[in-house]
Amino acid sequence: MADQAQGLWGRHRRRNVSIRRRLAYLILLVALPISAERIYALLASRDEQIDRTYERLRDIADSAALAQREAIGAAQAVVQTLSRQASSLMEDPPACEQFLRRLNNEAVGIQGALIAGVDGRIVCASTRALMGVDLSDRDYVRAALATPQPAISNLITARNTGRSVIAVAEAERDAQGDPIALAIVGVDLQWMSRIASQSGVQDGVTVCVIDGGGTMLVRYPIGSNLAGNSFRSHPLVQRVLSGNQGQMKAKGIDGEERYYAFSRLAGTDLRVLVGSDSSMVIADIDQRIFTIFFALLAGVALLIVLAWYAADKLVVEPVQQLALDIVAVGREEADTISQVRVEEFQPLVAAFGEMNQRLSERTEELRSQNGRLAALARMDGLTGLANRRTFDVQLSEDWVRAGDLRRPLALVMADVDHFKLFNDARGHLAGDDALRSVARMLSAATAGTRYLAARYGGEEFVVLLPDTDLAGAVEFAEDVRRLVAALGIEHPGVPSRRLTASFGAAATVPRFPGSPDGLLAAVDAALYEAKRQGRNRVIAAPDLAVERL
Ligand code: GH3
Ligand code: MG
Ligand code: MG
Repeated sequence: MADQAQGLWGRHRRRNVSIRRRLAYLILLVALPISAERIYALLASRDEQIDRTYERLRDIADSAALAQREAIGAAQAVVQTLSRQASSLMEDPPACEQFLRRLNNEAVGIQGALIAGVDGRIVCASTRALMGVDLSDRDYVRAALATPQPAISNLITARNTGRSVIAVAEAERDAQGDPIALAIVGVDLQWMSRIASQSGVQDGVTVCVIDGGGTMLVRYPIGSNLAGNSFRSHPLVQRVLSGNQGQMKAKGIDGEERYYAFSRLAGTDLRVLVGSDSSMVIADIDQRIFTIFFALLAGVALLIVLAWYAADKLVVEPVQQLALDIVAVGREEADTISQVRVEEFQPLVAAFGEMNQRLSERTEELRSQNGRLAALARMDGLTGLANRRTFDVQLSEDWVRAGDLRRPLALVMADVDHFKLFNDARGHLAGDDALRSVARMLSAATAGTRYLAARYGGEEFVVLLPDTDLAGAVEFAEDVRRLVAALGIEHPGVPSRRLTASFGAAATVPRFPGSPDGLLAAVDAALYEAKRQGRNRVIAAPDLAVERL
């Protein structure tokens, strides 16, 4: 489990993240908090807007409640005046009826007036059809008889006109305070609607008056037929009826979502409910939030693109250039890295330059060491002449070249005479010295020519003579033979007491296919012949010998 986690972590750590991507992260790191702050501020202003809406709705509700209250107050004043004369009016019903009819016509906002006995039976009314109707079971009638204050009914549909009214009732009382008669007037709801419409109401705002039983008395704007219906069970209406004032966001009776404020009409069960379309309140600000959100989104995207481009030009390109240069120097395609004008890279460039300098010094050192080693590998350790291997290689090359050019190639082979005896007489070190002397002489004899002198092995030497025929080779061998003797190295083991050498010489124009082995064998045979004939001499291999082999 731990291993697995480490593996995952390891993998994660190994992932390369480009500079461009790092920059994009950086921009997001900066842009996101700024965007978040902007959106937060917008949401806060949205809340403020909602608060302001509630405040406005409360103002409308309060002023509408006040205006309605005044309308009802006016009706209450009328009913109060009427109630004082109720018992006297009851005594003369025709006069009473006439009085009430005039009152009905003249008093603003009054829709019907009547006088009833304490038994609830109508004695006289502005409308004759109401005569004798029993109102004793009406709540507002009972309330008016029970208390000295005027009582207000819920919505009533007038029997005669079919119009919706609310009734205001007040009892006339005797000296003991017992009710003796009842005055009732209807308040015209259409008239209340007009008041509602004057309450500074704007578009998208609805105002309604709801009675204590949940019936909608008035609704503005008019046009819907909701007025007159009971909405007792509607959650909004229930909430409104449970308080004197308040505000909330709720679904209206028509199903529309709205912000609402309500206010109770003092001294009554009526409430004014003012609503404003939620879409109208916040649509504007939501639109702004939406616009700004996308503007921010576009801004961040643009910033990322610009930063990406800038990072490419300012950071990625120099880094890539540096990387390419380093690769080129590493592959020895370039000597130095081009100038990178990034301050932070300077230590890197300097360090790399130093490293490269050291590396090329080491390489140079290695090269010269290799050269020395190669030279050593080509050289004979004792004499400093070319060794047998070098001779073999050169012989093959010269063989081919001579064959191509149809030019002769000659070999001279030398062997020190009685060298075993020399060693025996003068010791091995003196033998080595003698070999070195012969070698030095050979080196001098071939200096400035294309001849190659090599130690063939032991006390045997060989000289490769390109572009030389047999006569040339014999001449050269003869010169060398004299020079060996002229070295004057003392040889106690031979009668002449001089160190001498015997020579074989051979030459040919190489033909193809063929190998230099024949030439080598011929020269070897010639040398053997020189030994056989008494040493310290040059013997030329017959042409035939070369041809045959
Ligand atoms: P010949 O005239 O027939 O050539 O007689 P030789 O004694 O020279 O021939 P042989 O092949 O019998 O002996 C060669 C001697 O050369 C034997 C060996 O000790 C000696 N020799 C070979 N290489 C070296 C060397 O590097 N240093 C010394 N000091 N002696 C060497
Ligand atoms: Mg020998
Ligand atoms: Mg010898």
